[in-house]
Amino acid sequence: MKYDVIVVGAGPAGSTAGRQCALKGLKTLILEKEKLPRYKPCGGGVTPRAISLLDFKIKRELIERECYGVRLHYGRYEIEIRKPYRLTILTSRDKFDMYLTEKAIDADAELKDSERVRSLDLTKDGVDVKTDKNTYKTAAVIGADGVNSTVSRYVREKFKPRELALALEAEIPIDVDDDIKDSDVVRAYFGSTPRGYGWVFPKKEHISVGIAGALSGFKNPRDVFINFLRMLNLDTNVRYHTHLIPFGGYDRVTYSDRILLVGDAAGFVDPIFGEGISYAINSGKIATNVMVDAHETDDFSKKKLAEYDWICRNAFGKYLKDALDISLLIHKHPGIFVKVIANNRSLLDKALEIPAGRIDYGEFKRWFLIRIPYYCVRSIFL
Ligand SMILES: Cc1cc2nc3c(=O)[nH]c(=O)nc-3n(C[C@H](O)[C@H](O)[C@H](O)COP(=O)(O)OP(=O)(O)OC[C@H]3O[C@@H](n4cnc5c(N)ncnc54)[C@H](O)[C@@H]3O)c2cc1C
Repeated sequence: MKYDVIVVGAGPAGSTAGRQCALKGLKTLILEKEKLPRYKPCGGGVTPRAISLLDFKIKRELIERECYGVRLHYGRYEIEIRKPYRLTILTSRDKFDMYLTEKAIDADAELKDSERVRSLDLTKDGVDVKTDKNTYKTAAVIGADGVNSTVSRYVREKFKPRELALALEAEIPIDVDDDIKDSDVVRAYFGSTPRGYGWVFPKKEHISVGIAGALSGFKNPRDVFINFLRMLNLDTNVRYHTHLIPFGGYDRVTYSDRILLVGDAAGFVDPIFGEGISYAINSGKIATNVMVDAHETDDFSKKKLAEYDWICRNAFGKYLKDALDISLLIHKHPGIFVKVIANNRSLLDKALEIPAGRIDYGEFKRWFLIRIPYYCVRSIFL
């Protein structure tokens, strides 16, 4: 049987692409290596921007916490900003991702889980997708198989260490009366990891605690994580997971003949906040439109699919580039950055409008650039 499109991976990018392709009439198969629902190390923060990209409502029971504030910690500095609107909802990724996959199945996408894609064979009239169980024929492939993507081998070189962050994360049950758990604030701790931060995200039954930092230059991550838990007075005898996150903003190839890469496989993650879910959903939708067009014109050439890269760049790629520049600056001088923020709360206040989806990095950059002299002078005198 020949499919119009095979989507590899059932994370947010794959399930979105799978649903949208099926809704647009393409015969769609989603292949996922894990048995679903599967665990995914993640803070589980789903921003209003990500939610606004979905064509359905999020079930109430998926929302474990609604957050209206952020507390930043750096050395002796502690800054809390609250907003009158939701900055993020917090979810458990096994449940959230499963819900998106169910939405793809509702739209008539076929799902085969516990089936790992091993390789692709590009033939004259399509692609043979080989898994550990079967071979499937398709006109085209959407690679939504995350940061260690198998599909990407047919499109681009491997991510370089400088393009990746390493994250360690644990879910820790805590007492019901603990103030961290009852909070509607997400906490971020700067200064303990290179080009990254530690976090505490409160959920319903537990907290998600983690650290992330640039892979190159991140020495003894396990010890750093244990020290982080100690600093928070948390049990250090916990089961933790490690995972890579691609820093967005680097130039990477995202398409080839008959193949598009979406989400983490394409490297679409905000390098400052580490937010990847909204870019996964957005790129999954953009990939669908380009795939539908490729079917209508029966043109799956690299030249035709280049349109995908162009649309992604305009929709969010250029902002990820701005974010990368800003993140390199922040992490080069974290002390100055926190001092400036501590003395100029409006700066953080404005920056939080980015994950909330109210402004993009381009608008933030323009807003910030004209205020730099004022902020610097104010910080010196305060
Ligand atoms: C510790 C941590 C915390 C994070 N916190 C947040 C957060 O709070 N908010 C946020 O927005 N982002 C967060 N992110 C980033 C976010 O998790 C990712 O950007 C997002 O999951 C990307 O979605 P995706 O669908 O592209 O990839 P994934 O969610 O990684 O899904 C890829 C899927 O492909 C499957 N797969 C892989 N290889 C194969 C294969 N060969 N064959 C078949 N299937 C395969 C995998 O099993 C997986 O299910 C975090 C990341 C980490 C590591």
